Order: sequence, then C-alpha cells, then structure tokens
Amino acid sequence: MKLSVIGTGYVGLVSGVCFAELGNEVTCVDISREKINLLNDGIVPIYEPGLKELIDRNKELNRLTFTTDLNEAVKQTDVVIIAVGTPSMPNGEANLSYIQKAARQIGEAINGYKVIVTKSTVPVGTNEKVGSIISQYSTYSFDIASVPEFLREGSAVIDTLNPDRIIIGTESERAAAVLWDLHSPLTDQIIITDIRSSEMIKYASNAFLATKISFINEIANICEKVGANVEKVALGMGMDHRIGSAFLKAGIGYGGSCFPKDTQALIQIAGQMDYDFKLLKSVVDVNNDQRFNVIRKLKEILGDLEGCTIGIWGLAFKPETDDVRDAPAFEIISAILELGANVKAYDPIAADNFRNRLDDPRIQYCSSSMEAAHDADALCILTEWEEFKSTPLPDIQTWLKSPNLIDGRNIFQEEELNGTPFVYYSVGRPSMS
Ligand code: NAD
Repeated sequence: MKLSVIGTGYVGLVSGVCFAELGNEVTCVDISREKINLLNDGIVPIYEPGLKELIDRNKELNRLTFTTDLNEAVKQTDVVIIAVGTPSMPNGEANLSYIQKAARQIGEAINGYKVIVTKSTVPVGTNEKVGSIISQYSTYSFDIASVPEFLREGSAVIDTLNPDRIIIGTESERAAAVLWDLHSPLTDQIIITDIRSSEMIKYASNAFLATKISFINEIANICEKVGANVEKVALGMGMDHRIGSAFLKAGIGYGGSCFPKDTQALIQIAGQMDYDFKLLKSVVDVNNDQRFNVIRKLKEILGDLEGCTIGIWGLAFKPETDDVRDAPAFEIISAILELGANVKAYDPIAADNFRNRLDDPRIQYCSSSMEAAHDADALCILTEWEEFKSTPLPDIQTWLKSPNLIDGRNIFQEEELNGTPFVYYSVGRPSMS
C-alpha cells in the first residue's frame, strides 16, 4: 500500500517507519524542514530504541522517504494518516489548529479516492470536522477514519509492531476494508467501530491509566501514614486479574505529552456537554500534588533550602525517552530554585531538550550522574533510568556532601539501604519514608 503520514513526530515517525517495515511504501511529511533534513541525512531527531535501524533499512529498500511537500505526498498515496500534535490550550482543551491546517492542505492536494485516517488524539467529533474541511477544498471522493494510537514512548517501535489492539473507527465499509488489510499483519485484535466511539476509546483509555496512577499514589500516601508498604499492596492487588498489575507503581506522578493533556481535554469535553467529570478532576489534582512530596521531604531533611545544592537525576518524564513535555522535573526544579537552592541536573539523554525549555543560571546541566551528585546536599531521583538503578549506593554516598537521598521512583530496596548512613525517602514504604 502507498501511505503518507502527515506529522513526523513520535507517533508519525514511528508509525510510518513500522508501516514501511511491513512492506508498504511510506512518505513521511513534516512542516519542519530541519526535521526532514536530519532524517534525510540519516539522523533521527527523537530518541526511541530500535528506530534508527528500521529507518536505515527501509530507506535502503526505497520504502521510506521524508519530505516537506505535503501536496505531492498526498497525491501519490492511497491512505493519508494525520499524526500532527494536539497540544493543550491554556483552558485544557485540545488545540486543533494543526489538525485543521493539515485537513485543509489534504483537501487541496487530493486527486482521487483516498482514505484519510486521524491517528492524533482528538476530541469526539473532530474526525467529522476533518471530513467537512476536506470537502470544502476537494470534489474528489474520500472516506475518513479514526485509528487512535496507543504506543508508549520509550518502547514505541515494539508497541507499534505488537499492539494490544487496533481500533478502526469509520462509517465506510471501503475504508474499513483498506485499514483492516493495512493493520492485520500487526494483530488479529482489530475492532471496527463508529468514529465517535473510536475517538472516545483513546481518551477513556488514557484517563483510566492516569486514574490507576493517581489511585496507587494516594494509597502510597496512606501507606506511609498507616505503616503499610505500597509495593506489597500493589503486588497483592495486581494479582487479581480484574485489577491487573500494570500502572500500579507509586512515584511522583505521571507526566509526558499524553496523560496530562488528555485528562484535561476529557474534562473539557465532558464540561462542554454540562457533565462534571469529578473523578478525573481529582485524578489530575492528586497528580499535580504528588510531585511536591519531593519538596516537602527536602524541607523536612534540610530545613531551609536557601544556598543548598540539590542534585537531580532524571529529567525525562520516564526512562528510555528524550521527551520532557510536562515532565514532573519542571515543577520540582522550579520549586527548588524558588526556595533559594541551586540545582545540578543530569539525564542520560533528555538534558538538551530540558535545557531548551528551562535555561536558568542556577541550574548546572551535568554530563554524568556523578557530576550531578558531587558535593550536593541532597540527591533527588526523578526518573527510573537503568543507569541510576545500577549505581552502587556507596558511590553515591562518596559523591554527596551529605547522604540525603530522595528516591521519587522507588529504585532502591530496603536491603540495600540497611546499615548505610543514608537519610532516605521513597514513596509509600514507611520504613523508608
Ligand atoms: P509531536 O509534536 O512529536 O509531532 C507532531 C509533528 O507534526 C511535528 O513534527 C510537527 O512539526 C508536525 N506538523 C504539525 N503540523 C503539520 C502539518 N500541517 N504538516 C506536516 N507536519 C505537521 O507529536 P506526537 O507526540 O507525535 O503526537 C502526535 C499526536 O499523537 C498527538 O495528538 C498525541 O496526543 C498523539 N499520541 C501521542 C503519543 C506519544 O506517546 N507521543 C501516543 C499516542 C498518541
């Protein structure tokens, strides 16, 4: 099949590359000339394990090309996949301007029947709007479909090639057949449904996962008070198949480019229909507060933070990604600076992206974990990178000025800390809180 993918970000690039890997001819389009030039020069603008190898192979096989020319790409393909961003607006609603612009450009380019797929996460009713925008600019026939994306950054290639399920929302049998053929090599778990339900499945899924995270974080906070251990509680809960063990890891809360924006967007979608989504509002509140446990603990240990140096390990919102959008590290570091301390920060790959968004002379971006911990009054672990997990505690003790360790991701175990001089705080484990 010939496909064009509009938007070559985390979703568009990975999907495009994986569809090429399945043997399709894929043209990835982006408005960013810089991004396209990098990709044409063999440089991958995002970090995603396994992605570069797939890009190189499929370029070599002439199944994958990169361009800024949307018009030409759409003309030459049968299926057009929209994967542009849908960031939050200040009121929490999804900003659909990129989607609308892409729809207009597609409408101007269409030269025959196409299946137009929206993979971006969009509020219910958006696909229909995409259809009506395209109709304003084109007289050719086309069908629209919603195929939401569920990949996780950090394992995006594996997730895309091995999806739990594919949701195809369309009212057209012709489009359903084309998209079934496109996706059936990936899985037999394909659901064909109506467009509105498909759009809602994506928001409901992310809202539910965010709810699990806030739920276990609140259980963790209670565990600290009643003397229970959240990890044992989560293990016991997760063994019940009705609950499942995923997303029951207590920590400093969720971040990233999806959960914060999609929960806010769903609250707005409900609100526009006069429905007060009380549960999801609380999920968001709990999450916003959870990250400040790190600050509360720092104050408890150090008292006044004025003039202190705080080491930070981890800036990405989760390991194995360079994405820092809505990472908890922003609010934690900003709060530390506000209290008069300086920060020494390290992340294996996300530091440049983070510095582009928070460049402050009081933050020293370090090139190693050792440098960030060196002579610090306390060390805060904000992302559970393997590199941090495998660092021996005696090394950390030697580097720090005082052995104060705030482990926001519970990467160390009680046995490792026994007999050490660390003042150690983790989440929901009372003997270590
Ligand atoms: P992103 O910001 O990484 O990429 C979007 C790309 O679209 C950018 O490179 C931008 O330059 C390009 N673009 C914007 N308008 C364009 C146009 N008119 N023509 C061509 N290119 C254009 O975004 P992302 O993280 O890939 O997310 C894309 C969508 O997928 C969002 O709706 C997001 O919610 C959803 N989603 C993201 C993830 C994730 O983990 N990142 C997972 C599932 C779903």
